[in-house]
Amino acid sequence: MENKRVAVIGGGLGALSGAIRLAQLGFSVQLFEKNPKIGGKVNEVVLEDYRFDTGASLLTMPFVIDELFDFAGFKRSDYLDFVPIDPICRYFFPDGSMMDASADKSKMETAIAQLSPNDVKAYKRFLKYAERIHNLTAEIFMFTPIHEFRKLMRPRYFRTLFRLHQIDPFRTVHQSVSRFFSDPRLVQLFDRYATYNGSDPFQAPATLNIIPYIEYGLGGYYIKGGIYRLVDALEAVARERGVQIRTSAEVERICCVHKRVNGVQVNGETVDADYVLCGADAVVAYHELILTKNATPASMLKARVLGQGHQHQREKVNQLEPSLSGMVFLWGLKGKHPKLAHHNIIFSSDYNTEFRQIFKHQQVPDEPTIYIAITSKADAAHAPVDGENWFVLLNMPYLAPGQQWEKEKVRMRAVVLDRLKQLGFDIADRIEVEQIYTPEDFAELYASNRGGIYGVSSNSKTTAFKRLPNRSRLLKGLYFAGGSVHPGGGIPLVMLSGKMAATLIAEDHK
Ligand SMILES: Cc1cc2nc3c(=O)[nH]c(=O)nc-3n(C[C@H](O)[C@H](O)[C@H](O)COP(=O)(O)OP(=O)(O)OC[C@H]3O[C@@H](n4cnc5c(N)ncnc54)[C@H](O)[C@@H]3O)c2cc1C
Repeated sequence: MENKRVAVIGGGLGALSGAIRLAQLGFSVQLFEKNPKIGGKVNEVVLEDYRFDTGASLLTMPFVIDELFDFAGFKRSDYLDFVPIDPICRYFFPDGSMMDASADKSKMETAIAQLSPNDVKAYKRFLKYAERIHNLTAEIFMFTPIHEFRKLMRPRYFRTLFRLHQIDPFRTVHQSVSRFFSDPRLVQLFDRYATYNGSDPFQAPATLNIIPYIEYGLGGYYIKGGIYRLVDALEAVARERGVQIRTSAEVERICCVHKRVNGVQVNGETVDADYVLCGADAVVAYHELILTKNATPASMLKARVLGQGHQHQREKVNQLEPSLSGMVFLWGLKGKHPKLAHHNIIFSSDYNTEFRQIFKHQQVPDEPTIYIAITSKADAAHAPVDGENWFVLLNMPYLAPGQQWEKEKVRMRAVVLDRLKQLGFDIADRIEVEQIYTPEDFAELYASNRGGIYGVSSNSKTTAFKRLPNRSRLLKGLYFAGGSVHPGGGIPLVMLSGKMAATLIAEDHK
């Protein structure tokens, strides 16, 4: 195969998945990651005797990973052990009640019956409705690069378009969930799924109700040893297939001649390539990599060659609303908490205000919903015998003027500890190790657009189409993977974006 060099930007899961596929297809692949290790937002930290996943904590659609291993000629079970989580999550409601949610239908129905007997039937109907959305949309919106017109020319996709009303795009998640459930606690529980791709249940289209089906219909998993083991495994497979991985290697510029990429500039050095697969946030890339961060006269000249098209593309990407960001507390704690499960959510008492503050005003919510994941419940080695490793995540707005994160992290720490104390978890004096991440840290660490943790939000009915395509319209030879492009954020979707980008490169190469 001639002209087959691919430069991959970033070691996030989207780019890494694409790199493996391209190497398996015979391309010569070099991957450049600015950080000392790969994985991007799927990251891990060890603080003394405590080990933490610092990003993703729940794995869905594990078959996406299996398929990648198969494609590369490996057996996933030789590398990774997927553990179904049951309960998937323990919910604590503001009125003091609790509920264990499960992918096991009868357990879930029993849990709902204890909370709100009238809503058991509603749950069955809701799950059927969510499954229908899944069946109608998954192939076209999750597994197909929808910006490629020729890929949409299939009769069954037309059928989907004719049945658009059945995927519920005109109501919001909240409006739709409220039609099913009478108990406000269940409305709050199912509204929350919009946040799993960084969106607001009060704005995002009800089509996102596909997410509860993915969790309850297909299951939620943990990876033995921690979610970061996925990165280790993919790194091993990538190296085995010949991908050259360079860490502490920041790409400063995507080089091009006459609107066609011809390499990247990395730590000042030019690396020639026939194709570039960009796994860095595409919005940031359009601003900083294509028009060069350290502009030299020569690169500015190239920029002028890109001219109007690039300006137009930049304006377009500016209109994309970043996803939610987050504030994370890693706490290594003395003591065990049997009242908590592996995954826990402590709801705020006023969800509407929480989301209005986050999404409409880009403010830190006064009363945040608190998510706690404790992997030492599944992997005892992640904490000392008498301790636990708490990963605490709060939804936060993306970066906007006027925010003061140094102050806010102190304030939020006190708010969270206070709320936990009310629930009987008086942990303030038992925190042995601590690390805190704010949206500024996410922006800095992973070069994510305004600190968004999932890429682009799905707060408008048209986001699925407006999200950036996997193939650049501006430069020939440039492709994108990762949460900021189609099909969106979250482990399985970014891995699918890597598949789409690699497939397009291979097709175009032919
Ligand atoms: C706190 C948190 C909780 C989450 N929870 C879940 C969850 O439970 N389940 C789930 O499925 N998903 C979850 N997610 C989302 C999921 O982790 C992400 O959607 C996914 O990992 C993003 O992958 P990506 O391919 O977009 O790359 P990213 O992870 O964004 O990585 C991009 C990489 O590119 C590198 N890079 C950027 N610019 C350059 C450059 N110029 N040169 C070289 N390298 C560069 C960055 O350093 C980074 O390593 C969570 C994310 C966070 C942060």
